[in-house]
Amino acid sequence: MRLTAEQTAGAAAFFTATITRLATRPVRIMEVCGSHTVAIFRNGIRQLLPPTVELVSGPGCPVCVTPNEYLDTAIAYSRCPDTVIVTFGDMLKVPGSASSLQAEKSRGADIRIVYSPLDSLTIARENPDKHVIFLAVGFETTAPTAAATVLEAKQQRLKNFFVLSAHKLVPPALRTLLSASETKVDGFLLPGHTVTISGFEPYRFVAEEYQVPAVVTGFEALDILQGVSLLMEQIAAGKAELLNQYRRVAKPEGNPAALRILQEVYSPASAAWRGFGVIEGSGLKLKPEYGEYDAQTALPLPEIVTNEPVGCRCGEVLRGNIIPEACPHFGRNCTPEQPVGACMVSVEGACAAWYKYGQGR
Ligand code: SF4
Repeated sequence: MRLTAEQTAGAAAFFTATITRLATRPVRIMEVCGSHTVAIFRNGIRQLLPPTVELVSGPGCPVCVTPNEYLDTAIAYSRCPDTVIVTFGDMLKVPGSASSLQAEKSRGADIRIVYSPLDSLTIARENPDKHVIFLAVGFETTAPTAAATVLEAKQQRLKNFFVLSAHKLVPPALRTLLSASETKVDGFLLPGHTVTISGFEPYRFVAEEYQVPAVVTGFEALDILQGVSLLMEQIAAGKAELLNQYRRVAKPEGNPAALRILQEVYSPASAAWRGFGVIEGSGLKLKPEYGEYDAQTALPLPEIVTNEPVGCRCGEVLRGNIIPEACPHFGRNCTPEQPVGACMVSVEGACAAWYKYGQGR
């Protein structure tokens, strides 16, 4: 049901009043997802909240949590002869240890931007003499389409299509966060779109084991205000439950068809996250029966030496320990035009959002 402008304003006023009434002590709420961060800034939600309610960004920007090791590997592949790199646009400007895909493209590397992984198959068919490598970066939301692309490649008997997989699962990162002594979070706004795929089960531990309330939340301004309001009610009542604000889309069982495709093609594996290190079971690796599509198995590279940008505090931003303005590079020598770290590049990056939308105010 679509609300009128008047009804929307009334609902926003109601949720804001509820949050304000319950904000009797300082509370830190983490919006796990980069899409939430952007929606919060775009809709001026910070300005609606009382000063005792702090919103901090989390590890839910896939480009931001992809470490330089992956970027450097992608860059190394882009330098190989007869190779086409296929990627989403937001990976292009992310700085690796010594270069970026954009810099390589300007030097002549064949790097193409697509909007769907399936577009890589067309490129592979049209370039049978080249290796076509798709940079698979994303969470549960995008992984099923990448898995479907692998199945389609098998169906089409393509021999020159490969995946460089950096797909990640959000719940293991939340467990790592909750296990860290420095993490101070009173409640989580959980990403509605990843839960739409995974269902509730992988997230239950947040409330059940760590007694931290969590609300599966949508991406409209009202969704977020209601999500915060549901968290504040739990915090005020001393409760910790997993609630669903995004009922119109996210179901407890998730998306069984998408999960089936994921389980057919991928198995969980350890994965490296920027700011977190290696987290067991947080990545998705192609199963051995699809190993011929795994770029690192089929097209091994010599060992790559990588390093992270000096002074960049992206990792601390992603763990919710600091706000972007606490980084000495922020807005000085790190801007969206000249980014030092990944969090300033991605449209979902916290540093980029703080910079673009008035630096948090
Ligand atoms: Fe890294 Fe730039 Fe963000 Fe600082 S402002 S944490 S250098 S991305």
